[in-house]
Amino acid sequence: MSKTLNGIAASDGIAIAPAYLLVEPDLSFSKSTIEDIDSEVARYKKAVSDSTSEVEHIRDIAKTNLGEEEAQVFEAHLMILNDPEFTGAIEEEIKNQSVNAEAALDETAQKFITIFESMVDNPYMQERAADVRDVSKRIMAHLLGKKLPDPASIDHEVIVVAHDLTPSDTAQLNKNYVKGFVTDIGGRTAHSAIMARSLELPAVVGTDSITKEITDGQMMIADGLDGAAIILPTDDQVTEYKEKAEAFLKQKAEWQKLKDAPSVTADGKQFIIAANIGTPNDMPGVHENGAEAIGLYRTEFLYMDSSTFPSEDDQFEAYKKVIEGMNGKQVVIRTMDIGGDKHLDYWDLPEEMNPFLGVRAVRLSLMNEEIFRTQLRALLRASAYGKLGIMFPMIGTLGELRKAKAILNDEKDKLIASGIKVGDDLQVGMMIEVPAAAVLADQFAKEVDFFSIGTNDLIQYTMAADRGNENVSYLYQPYNPSVLRLIKQTIDGAHKNGIWVGMCGEAAGDSVMFPILLSMGLDEYSMSATSILRIRSLMSKLNTEDLKELANQACFVSETSEENEKLVKDLMDKLIK
Ligand code: PEP
Ligand code: MG
Repeated sequence: MSKTLNGIAASDGIAIAPAYLLVEPDLSFSKSTIEDIDSEVARYKKAVSDSTSEVEHIRDIAKTNLGEEEAQVFEAHLMILNDPEFTGAIEEEIKNQSVNAEAALDETAQKFITIFESMVDNPYMQERAADVRDVSKRIMAHLLGKKLPDPASIDHEVIVVAHDLTPSDTAQLNKNYVKGFVTDIGGRTAHSAIMARSLELPAVVGTDSITKEITDGQMMIADGLDGAAIILPTDDQVTEYKEKAEAFLKQKAEWQKLKDAPSVTADGKQFIIAANIGTPNDMPGVHENGAEAIGLYRTEFLYMDSSTFPSEDDQFEAYKKVIEGMNGKQVVIRTMDIGGDKHLDYWDLPEEMNPFLGVRAVRLSLMNEEIFRTQLRALLRASAYGKLGIMFPMIGTLGELRKAKAILNDEKDKLIASGIKVGDDLQVGMMIEVPAAAVLADQFAKEVDFFSIGTNDLIQYTMAADRGNENVSYLYQPYNPSVLRLIKQTIDGAHKNGIWVGMCGEAAGDSVMFPILLSMGLDEYSMSATSILRIRSLMSKLNTEDLKELANQACFVSETSEENEKLVKDLMDKLIK
């Protein structure tokens, strides 16, 4: 029987394929005493040899589908599986303690992990702790007769179903086979959803119970346009969704015609539509969708994709690649925004009660000046290759901004003194994503070259509603007059002081929000590359004269988010035939 679950539409498109359940099995076990040691050792050896064949198989598939680099981790796993010091120690434990293989594996693995993790001066050995953990999990699964999910081994078309997907899980998905994904939790601005949009994968998040409702391999539909997941669709539903997918592709082909067109309104007012990126690998999408600038390069992914802190030279190369790739068009690169829901395996930061309100983004950078200075030097060196804007995330006070700028200027002076070239038209900007900064926008505007409004966070902090928590997603209201007033105040504060202001939060690519922003006079709209042509098409149909009253009405007359949504939709119905 077919069943539909509603969720949040996180990335456009429709996928029809069997489900691939990416859920960790329960690997708990009880410790017991063993009488027949020989057969227990044999059972353990079989689990090791089954694990070895499995990892070899995954490595081969990963090599073909994802590349040598992604397959490396499995080589490391094979080395551990073949290492007599590790596997032999477990065997000894079974023999000497007369315990079951599960207990011997767990105890021995813990010992190895503790030793590796304590090698603080040797990051290479520290990383081995994660490998030991992974390998032990696999042997344990074989001992318990359970199956681990292996996204890297996917070799047929699937829709990935998971409780949640971390940015690193998402990065491992092979686009040739993964046609979409559906999760239990998350919101439209969760980082997994942002990654799905940059991979152009249809995604539905926040369905609450998809992992419980579906079994591995069952046929399903992910409707990323309207936010629905259909389990075991009927033939009629499959036909209906195939038609819907086709209509969407036709629409996309229509928008594609605007790829090289300027971003202008019907009355000839020109604006900038820019792309948000997470890595230099996103550049093809930027060009295919006709972005006029990069409005946000989220550099934290560079740190997250690495197993140690990326060196100054590695960072320089990545930034330079993006800057050169834009051929003189503006590129805004944001300093790292680690913390909140973004962590580094190799940076052991204290647990926090409220990570989104804790040591995140520029706060973390200012508390770890050497790491911050390394990034700033890489950025300053890269600035010589084009038109760069360096942007600080999560600035809340003028004190933070001044401190970050002082460090930047200090590094700049040192580079120039040592004869290294820094770009002449380097700009320095800040994100407006903390309400305190939006309220004081006119004062901040005197000390930066530009603002970029981060609505993903500005909304969560204004409404006190976690952006990734579907239980409070009803409070995540981009059109709430309170949020709109903060945005208007920011734009007015910027323009009064003669600086430009953009928006790089997801709201910039939202079809209801866009006319309001246009009415407020926002200068630059930066969004997932896949939203650009839809917004350029919408812009070309709008006349700014018709929108003159919209901003004031949305901020000061409307009382609710729903009222504003209706206000814009009714106006659009009237203006766009
Ligand atoms: C934002 O907060 O709107 C933003 C663009 O930054 P991020 O989504 O990376 O927090
Ligand atoms: Mg943010």
